[in-house]
Amino acid sequence: MARYLGPKCKLCRREGAKLFLKGARCYSSKCGLERKNNPPGEQRRRFRAKMSDYGTHLREKQKAKRMYGLLEKQFKNYFKKATKMKGVTGENLFRLLETRLDNVVFRMGFAPSRNSARQLVNHGHILVDGKKVDIPSYIVKDGQCIEIRDRSRQITIIHQAMESHKSLDQFNWLEVHAEEFKGYVKNLPTKEQLPQEIDDRLIVEFYSK
Ligand code: SF4
Repeated sequence: MARYLGPKCKLCRREGAKLFLKGARCYSSKCGLERKNNPPGEQRRRFRAKMSDYGTHLREKQKAKRMYGLLEKQFKNYFKKATKMKGVTGENLFRLLETRLDNVVFRMGFAPSRNSARQLVNHGHILVDGKKVDIPSYIVKDGQCIEIRDRSRQITIIHQAMESHKSLDQFNWLEVHAEEFKGYVKNLPTKEQLPQEIDDRLIVEFYSK
């Protein structure tokens, strides 16, 4: 599957928001956005002008898509799936994105970024209820146990991520037992436990136009 391989900080600058794509650096004073808070390259001049209604909706969608490291087609498929589910489409969309296995590994603090979490899953380092799952888009269910495989517990990047991990109350739908290299999905995230920095309403409107 194709991936964006360009500079990650550029994406944050483009969206004018921290997307947390580079692990520990994102929490330090070396954060690219904190050092240079303006859109990259040619866009800069245009960005100063008032953004159109379409632009506002587009940027919110791009922000979410980039935050979760997805391609347009994948993101749109999540949206379609969300529209077919019971409940509010925007919440369904973010619940689906949050419960992807790579995101859960990242939220639990076992990887410094979603990208690294995806690699850990791809390389078979993650167990779900004791069985290897190497599909980053696997959707976790409540009650499931997510664990680092025994022989993968020495991986430096996992230790570094766990040391710098800051647990946030907002994500307490996950329960982490760091000393055992495992965590549980206590419940599927409620509206309040979903990321608040993105306006899901704008994304729903973007795809509904
Ligand atoms: Fe974004 Fe992280 Fe780069 Fe900061 S350091 S601009 S949060 S990717």
